[in-house]
Amino acid sequence: MRLIMLGAPGAGKGTQAKRAAAHLGVPHISTGDIFRANIKEGTELGRKAKEYMDAGALVPDELVCDLVADRISKEDCAKGFILDGFPRTIPQAEALDRALENLGTSIDYAVDIDVPDEAIISRMGGRRACVGCGATYHIKFNPPKQEGVCDTCGKDLILRDDDKPETVKTRLGVYHEQTQPLIDFYSAKGVLVTVDGTQGMDDVFAEIVSKIGA
Ligand code: ADP
Ligand code: AMP
Repeated sequence: MRLIMLGAPGAGKGTQAKRAAAHLGVPHISTGDIFRANIKEGTELGRKAKEYMDAGALVPDELVCDLVADRISKEDCAKGFILDGFPRTIPQAEALDRALENLGTSIDYAVDIDVPDEAIISRMGGRRACVGCGATYHIKFNPPKQEGVCDTCGKDLILRDDDKPETVKTRLGVYHEQTQPLIDFYSAKGVLVTVDGTQGMDDVFAEIVSKIGA
């Protein structure tokens, strides 16, 4: 199955994408994770992306579209994939359509995780990310066993630079302006599924599984 996760920053795309990928046995592809890995490795792509990410802006389309087209053409994506954080603009969605057309396939569902802005702002302040493996926690809704320490790899948990309140507000503005139009884009294609992202994580997952018939 080929899925796209849509939703504001902090709506729970990564949380649900990881679970859905394990459930469906397909790769989870997060463009944010790819950029963060490049920043950590000190690559040229990472250096370019960091500038935009720290400002709460989107990385330019030309730095992300080819990267995703290449990733979804890999052997492990033959039976499907879950895209998390891509596409984020209409040109990215059009580039994805072309890449899928070249592969002779198309998207099955675009899952929009709907969460109002007020809930996003309080949720993001509690997100903690592992500096080692990138695992995500929430101090209240999904705490690690030991405060500040990753359950999986034992490294430190930090507040991402772009999760600071001022940057979150900028990111929400960018989301409404550039990413929200994708809801109509995928609705017009008849592949949009909307789930209530204000529920607990297990209930959000159950709603996704039921609506995509997985
Ligand atoms: P996104 O990938 O959309 O930016 P995440 O999956 O990283 O969002 O979730 C943002 C934060 O909210 C994380 O700290 C995560 O643990 C927490 N979270 C995710 N889903 C829920 C939920 N349904 N209820 C409460 N907190 C959630
Ligand atoms: P995320 O981990 O999905 O919240 O992404 C973190 C940041 O990476 C975003 O705020 C953007 O700056 C950048 N980013 C991730 N995916 C994309 C994308 N598809 N297009 C542009 N920028 C992106």
